[in-house]
Amino acid sequence: MKNPIFFTPGPSQLFPTYRRHLAEALERNIPSISHRSDTFHKIFNDTTSSLRTLLSIPKDFHIFFVSSATEAMEQIIQSSVKEKSFHLVNGAFSRLFYTIALAHGKHAQKYEVAAGMGFDFPNVHIPRDTELLCVTHNETSTGVSLPPDRLYDLRVRYPRALIALDIVSSVPCVNMDLSRFDTIFFSVQKGLGLPAGLGVLIVSPRAIEKAQYIEKRVKTVGSFHRFTNLLAYAQKYETPETPNVLEIFLLGNVAQDFSRIGIQAIRKQITEKATLLYTFFDHDDHYTPFVTQKIFRSPTVIVVGVANGSERLVSSLSQKGLVVGKGYKEFKSTHIRIANFPAHTAAHMKRLISELT
Ligand SMILES: *Cc1c(COP(=O)(O)O)cnc(C)c1O
Repeated sequence: MKNPIFFTPGPSQLFPTYRRHLAEALERNIPSISHRSDTFHKIFNDTTSSLRTLLSIPKDFHIFFVSSATEAMEQIIQSSVKEKSFHLVNGAFSRLFYTIALAHGKHAQKYEVAAGMGFDFPNVHIPRDTELLCVTHNETSTGVSLPPDRLYDLRVRYPRALIALDIVSSVPCVNMDLSRFDTIFFSVQKGLGLPAGLGVLIVSPRAIEKAQYIEKRVKTVGSFHRFTNLLAYAQKYETPETPNVLEIFLLGNVAQDFSRIGIQAIRKQITEKATLLYTFFDHDDHYTPFVTQKIFRSPTVIVVGVANGSERLVSSLSQKGLVVGKGYKEFKSTHIRIANFPAHTAAHMKRLISELT
């Protein structure tokens, strides 16, 4: 299979400029530099500044580097929940957040809907003493995306709770006012088109205060990556441990490339490609988009039921160099999942559609 295109929803197709930045990193010996050196301080500062610009991250929010999105979930639970968290669950990744809270001995509650559904937001009722509300913006297992205004409503209705937002499979296209959330996180192997091995955790001043409060009252508040330790190092443009320096460098460069293209232009392309795909699937009897309510359809992860099963289709496409995702867990042999990230061009999508016809 020569030069396949990866439509898998993570790891996915690498963003095309990645190779050039990798070559430059090797040229400059970036993988060998000390994480306590001025060269690294500059990389840390450049990457966080580029992310701030690209995603309009509020000035007073902190940006930390961790190893993955799963680790970010764990740190968020440890550093911002003393007892009670609440989770909107509609698939595997939102459920993962919930199970991590349980594993840490928290009193975790959930509002759960069936796979493929969004939430009936007016009927979401959260206990008033909830400390942290956990929301997955784009449920990668089912292709459900939550409209930003419904999430802003939750902030208005529950002003005391901190809100954690998973944007792993909607970044960088996510068009959301991040100042209305407290902890926002993603990893880099999906929409950013980089290899796996780095998570980004964005934390509000309010969430830091909560972490300081918890540290005073609870004996164990997590590892070297707890919020307060991440903050102490980030203020020196460092991380507590030796981080994935190479990847932090690559992330900063790719974020700059995205800003150069323009975030609006990137979002427009994503929307256009999503329309292309959904229109095709809506009109071909062989396929059924899994998410029936259009307002909840994800533009970045398109999940589709295939008549007569998906497994043979996945392998025949793969032989043609088009690698699509299998269905998630129980949908392994009935669904395909197609990532629509900035690394995927309209030409890629047209080629895929022509092979699906
Ligand atoms: C992939 C994914 C994760 C987990 O990311 P890791 O980097 O593997 O930890 C979490 N949430 C969502 C929505 C995802 O798609």
